[in-house]
Amino acid sequence: MTVSAPKPSIIDTQRHQMFPVLEPPEIERVRRFGVVRSYGAGEALAKVGEVGDGLTIILAGKVDVTQHDESGRRAPIVTHGPGAFMGELAQLAGRRALVDAHALEPVEALVIPPDRLRALLIADAELGERIMRALILRRVGLLEAGAGGPVIVGRADSGDVLRLEGFLARNGHPRQRLNPETDAEAKALIERFHVDPGQLPIVLCPGGQLLRNPSETELARCIGLVGPIDPDRVYDVAVVGAGPAGLATAVYAASEGLSVLVLDCRAFGGQAGASARIENYLGFPTGITGMALMARAYNQAQKFGVEMAIPDEVNGLQALDDPDERNFVLKLSNDERVSARSVVIASGARYRRLEVEDLESFEASSVHYWASPLEGKLCAGQEVALVGAGNSAGQAAVYLASRAAQVWLLVRGPDLEASMSRYLVERIAGLSNVKVVTQAQVSGLEGRDGMLEAIRCRQGASGQEVRRPIRHLFLFIGAEPNTDWLSGSGVALDGKGFVLTGGDAASDRRPLETSRRGVFAIGDVRSGSVKRVAAAVGEGAQVVATLHAFFASTDRKPAVRAKP
Ligand SMILES: Cc1cc2nc3c(=O)[nH]c(=O)nc-3n(C[C@H](O)[C@H](O)[C@H](O)COP(=O)(O)OP(=O)(O)OC[C@H]3O[C@@H](n4cnc5c(N)ncnc54)[C@H](O)[C@@H]3O)c2cc1C
Repeated sequence: MTVSAPKPSIIDTQRHQMFPVLEPPEIERVRRFGVVRSYGAGEALAKVGEVGDGLTIILAGKVDVTQHDESGRRAPIVTHGPGAFMGELAQLAGRRALVDAHALEPVEALVIPPDRLRALLIADAELGERIMRALILRRVGLLEAGAGGPVIVGRADSGDVLRLEGFLARNGHPRQRLNPETDAEAKALIERFHVDPGQLPIVLCPGGQLLRNPSETELARCIGLVGPIDPDRVYDVAVVGAGPAGLATAVYAASEGLSVLVLDCRAFGGQAGASARIENYLGFPTGITGMALMARAYNQAQKFGVEMAIPDEVNGLQALDDPDERNFVLKLSNDERVSARSVVIASGARYRRLEVEDLESFEASSVHYWASPLEGKLCAGQEVALVGAGNSAGQAAVYLASRAAQVWLLVRGPDLEASMSRYLVERIAGLSNVKVVTQAQVSGLEGRDGMLEAIRCRQGASGQEVRRPIRHLFLFIGAEPNTDWLSGSGVALDGKGFVLTGGDAASDRRPLETSRRGVFAIGDVRSGSVKRVAAAVGEGAQVVATLHAFFASTDRKPAVRAKP
C-alpha cells in the first residue's frame, strides 16, 4: 500500500515570506511609527480573544507564538527573535488576536498601533509590501489550521452549521468544527455545558463564551468581527455594500484621504465572492476565485484605513433633507445610526428563489445559492442538480463537476448559447459528468427533516415529469436589486427596483448621482449597469471623482486627514 505524504502547510512552503526578519537600518526607518515597550519573562504580548497592542517588532529577547487546536491544546507556531515582528491581519484593524504570544525571556519591542501601522504601510512602500504580505500569509496559515477561531460543535450537514461555517469562511475568519457524534472533545463540551441535542450547534468563542445556535450577528459580535459604531462620528462617505463596487469606492476614496465606512449585512465580496472562478477580470489570465480577488480588495481597503461594519444591515436612509440636518443618516437593523456627508449605494443584487412548493424547508441544508469549497465538500461524489443558464450557473457547473459524481444542469430555454459565454458553453460540453437538460423546470421537491432526497422535473417539449434522487440543488436563476431598504428615502427607482442615476434620475444630476443630491449609486444595483465585476469596480473608482465634485459644490467639506 502506498501512503501519500501529508500536504505541506503554508508555514513549510512560505516560511521565508511569512516570518521575515528586518535589518537594523529597516527598524530605524520605522521607529517613528511606534513606541518601545519592555516585557518580563513569561509576560503575555498577545492573548487569543483580546485586542492586542498592534504590530510588535522584537528588538531584544525571544517571543513564543502559539495557537490552540480544537481541543484547546497549545501548539507552537513560531519563536520570534530580534528583527522579527508579531502580528497578522487582525492588527490592521485593531481586532482581537487569534494567537497567544509570551516572552521567553526579558523582551524589548517596538509596538506600532493599528493606525500607525496603516500609515507605515502607505509611507514605506517597500517595507509595507513585505509586512503586508507576511500579515496576509499568516492569516492564510491560521485559516488552513483553523486556529484562533471559534469552535463550532455540530454535524457538518446541519443547516445551522453550514450557515455559521459559511459566514465565517466568507469573512475570511478561521474556525474549527467538532462532530458531536465522533469527537471526544465535542462530547466533553456538550456534557460540561449541559447542552441538549436540540440546542446544537453550539459555538465556543475564543474568549470562552458559549453561544447556543447563534445568529451570524451574535457570533460576529462575540468574536469581535464587528463592534459598535461611534454615534458622534461623521464619515465623509458611508458605503452600503462590500461587493466589488463598494470595495472599489472604499479603496479609491480612502487612498485620496476621505474617511470611509463600509457596511455589509453579510460578508465582504458580494456576489463576486460567490464566483468559483472569474476568468474575464483584467489582469488575471489564469482566472482567480471570487473570494481571493475580494479578500485582496478587502485587505487593501483596510490598509488605507477604511472602517468595516460587517455584518451590519442598513434598513433605512433618513427621509429627504431636513434643513436642520446637515448630514445623511443611515439606520441600521440593530438600531444604531451612521452619519455621513455622502452616501454610496452599492447594495447590489440577490439571487432569485425558485417558485416551487416547500423550497424554504430545504433551504438551510440542501438548496444552495453558492458553490464554494464548503458546498463542494458536502456534495462530493454525489449527483447534484443546478438550475440556471447564465455565466454564474456555468461557472458553478464547471466547479461542481470537479467534486460531484454527476451534475444535471437544468435549463429553461432550448439551449445555453443564448445566455452563457461561449468559453463556458465549450467547457461544459467537454465535461463528461455534466448533463445539460433543456426545456426543464423543477416541479417538486421531496425529502424529510430539511434534507432533500429527490427532485421532480418537467422536461422536453412533452413536459414529461422525471424524478431524480438528488440531495443538493443549486439555484443560479438571476438576481433582484437590494433596494427594499431605500423605501421612503426619496431615492428614485426604475420599474424593476434598480436605482436611477444621472440624467435618468433628474435633469441636473452628476453621473452616478441619484435623485437625492449627495447620494450615489454604483454597480449591479444601478439601473442600466453592466452586471460584471469590472464594471462594478470601474463605477466604484468613477464615483470618487464625482464625490469630490459634490464636496466642492457644497458646504459639506470632508475632514482632511493627516498625512503619514
Ligand atoms: C456566482 C456568480 C459568478 C459570477 N461570475 C462573474 C464573472 O466571472 N465575471 C464577472 O464579471 N461577473 C461575474 N458575476 C457578476 C458579478 O459578481 C456582479 O456583477 C458584481 O458582484 C456586482 O458587484 P456589486 O458590488 O455591485 O454588488 P454585489 O456583488 O451584489 O454586492 C452587494 C453587497 O451589498 C450587500 N448589501 C445588500 N443590501 C444591504 C443592506 N441593506 N445593508 C448592508 N449591506 C447590504 C450585500 O450583502 C452584498 O455583499 C458573478 C456573479 C455570481 C453570483
